[in-house]
Amino acid sequence: MRSTLTGMESEVAFAAYACQRGFSNSAGLGEELRRTGGISRRIFVVSSFPITSDGLTCQSIWTDCERPVADDNDCDVDHKMGLADRRGGQLMLAKTTLGNTDINVTRLGFGTLVMGSLQANLPPEEGAKVIRRAFEQGISFLDTAHVYGSYEHIRKAKEGWKQELVIATKTPASDYDKTERHINYALEALDVESLDIMLMHAARAGEDVFQERAGAYQCLCDYREKGLIKAIGVSTHHAGTVRVAGSRDDVDVIHPLINMAGTGILGGTVGDMASAIEAASRNGKGIYAMKALAGGSLLERMDEAFKFVMGLPGIDAVVVGMVSEAEVDMNCRIFRGEVVHDKEREVTFREKRLKIVEVYCKGCGRCVDACPNGALSMVDGKSSVDESKCLLCGYCTPACPEFAIRVI
Ligand code: SF4
Ligand code: SF4
Repeated sequence: MRSTLTGMESEVAFAAYACQRGFSNSAGLGEELRRTGGISRRIFVVSSFPITSDGLTCQSIWTDCERPVADDNDCDVDHKMGLADRRGGQLMLAKTTLGNTDINVTRLGFGTLVMGSLQANLPPEEGAKVIRRAFEQGISFLDTAHVYGSYEHIRKAKEGWKQELVIATKTPASDYDKTERHINYALEALDVESLDIMLMHAARAGEDVFQERAGAYQCLCDYREKGLIKAIGVSTHHAGTVRVAGSRDDVDVIHPLINMAGTGILGGTVGDMASAIEAASRNGKGIYAMKALAGGSLLERMDEAFKFVMGLPGIDAVVVGMVSEAEVDMNCRIFRGEVVHDKEREVTFREKRLKIVEVYCKGCGRCVDACPNGALSMVDGKSSVDESKCLLCGYCTPACPEFAIRVI
């Protein structure tokens, strides 16, 4: 996808967009944009390049392959980085085993945080439809958490679905009793006989988390022993916690935050996190990454961002938040190494908006200073976005020390 335009390209794009919208020249379009308040630069840019059915070349993001293809599935050069394989003549999302567990997951997983009550707050029926679409596209790995408010979406989505699914969830509890309650709640709310993966939800906690929440972790160990949880571990934004978890014998799975911009990584740099992940993987831990798109701020560089994370040594899978069927289709096509047109990307981008996750916002105001478009202001001690001014440029996201700003 283009991220910058030269003056000449801008003129060509503007004329193309005017033509698409039925104007005989760009002046007519300019008049309409002034009347309607305009469009964002990004939507303008991606809308300006029409889909053509002639002259397609392979657009797999995973290599520089540019073989001519007759249709979207034609290129069968082995350039899928183990993310897809051909079964029965069809390209399918590939599966892998998480570390030393016997749990098989699709390398592209579905993150349900974004659709849950903390963010997009989709009604369960609507969320279930999106998840079901993911099942149909071959995704069999879901990530959720006690606090995401997405158990009902998942339960509805899997009603009547006969094929194998893996569901990972997390508990924010610190003590034994509360953890036990969260386990039993998850078993019932997800309508499962055992939990595939349950992690200590410790996003911002440092490397002492296993001491600080020893009761909670003991409970996870006991329930794994009883056979009610298959694999346990920790989800974290902290490089030190990944290092510690990676060296513990009682950890099966780690869910670390990693992205090429380093957004949200605590306790070190991208390089520190990457080497902690690699060491943990070498020690047999299953690793599935989160925030590969940095809470949505890398959406416009998504190919590069996915390629970065999936190319890191030790990454078994990545979970990506999705809120629409179009987004599911697009991500599955990318991971299968198929052609994805700019127009398809535009359909999903157009529905995106900026979200301040209020429970995380500490009201420091740094995002307000970082926004070049005057779209953010402080309201009742929390940051608030004026959507009519927000261009989804992403400048505010890295400015937030709490990782409270997301594009959903
Ligand atoms: S900095 Fe943030 S709030 Fe401001 S326009 Fe960009 S994405 Fe929107
Ligand atoms: S930078 Fe983050 S924590 Fe600070 S006001 Fe903005 S959203 Fe809230």
